[in-house]
Amino acid sequence: MESARVLDLFRTSGALLEGHFRLTSGLHSGRYLQSALVLQYPDHAGTLGRALAERVQHLQPTAILSPALGGIVIGQEVGRALGIRALFTERQDGTLMLRRGFTLTPADRVLVVEDVITTGGSTRETIDVATAAGARVLAAAAIIDRGTDQGRVSVPLFSLVQMDVPTYQPESCPLCANGIPVMKPGSRAS
Ligand SMILES: [Zn+2]
Repeated sequence: MESARVLDLFRTSGALLEGHFRLTSGLHSGRYLQSALVLQYPDHAGTLGRALAERVQHLQPTAILSPALGGIVIGQEVGRALGIRALFTERQDGTLMLRRGFTLTPADRVLVVEDVITTGGSTRETIDVATAAGARVLAAAAIIDRGTDQGRVSVPLFSLVQMDVPTYQPESCPLCANGIPVMKPGSRAS
């Protein structure tokens, strides 16, 4: 699946907006990404899951492990496409862990799946959860990779789209400097 087609799915479902946005962090950006808006359509989620599965099937994983909540839907779809279990980690007292009776064993070959990877923090934490259970982590996969540092995670990283999303302090925002009105995503112009 080509990057352009993935981005079309994101754009037509409102999951990728282009303009001038004030993010919840207070930073400004010319792009706003909310992958839940494309994954709310099961057909799109299935399409993206199959596309990611194609990239990683040669690794022959035995289980998917995704960090909640963002990774759950796409993890499920990659698992469906590969015919393997899809588990998720969730936070308890601030730490990601396996709950609900989910188990991994040293026989498991794990693929960590997320919707979007940026700094790689939750990916690293999820890798640690699988490793602590004795499983081997083969790789990580995300629909969109917003980062550039290949050293963010200790395993190979696969993605459908590589996309830089620059953010700016309001004082030094080039879009503000050009007089473009700033919007809060999900609302009308402010
Ligand atoms: Zn701005």
